[in-house]
Amino acid sequence: MTPVEAVANAHAWFEHHSGWAPPDEGTLEEWLADGMCRAPDDCAVLPRGWCDHGLASWRLILDAI
Ligand SMILES: [Zn+2]
Repeated sequence: MTPVEAVANAHAWFEHHSGWAPPDEGTLEEWLADGMCRAPDDCAVLPRGWCDHGLASWRLILDAI
């Protein structure tokens, strides 16, 4: 899988789920300071990676917007 595909998967996931919200800037910075990030389904992921479900990290998603 590529980052572009992972971001596309995340956008598809957004369309079928509710109750998610992007992290605020401080939260995102905290994750990155810890060397990790989260995917929209709350899985812990590498900052520029994606979770086992194929969803991109918030970092990748927000960078792509
Ligand atoms: Zn996941």
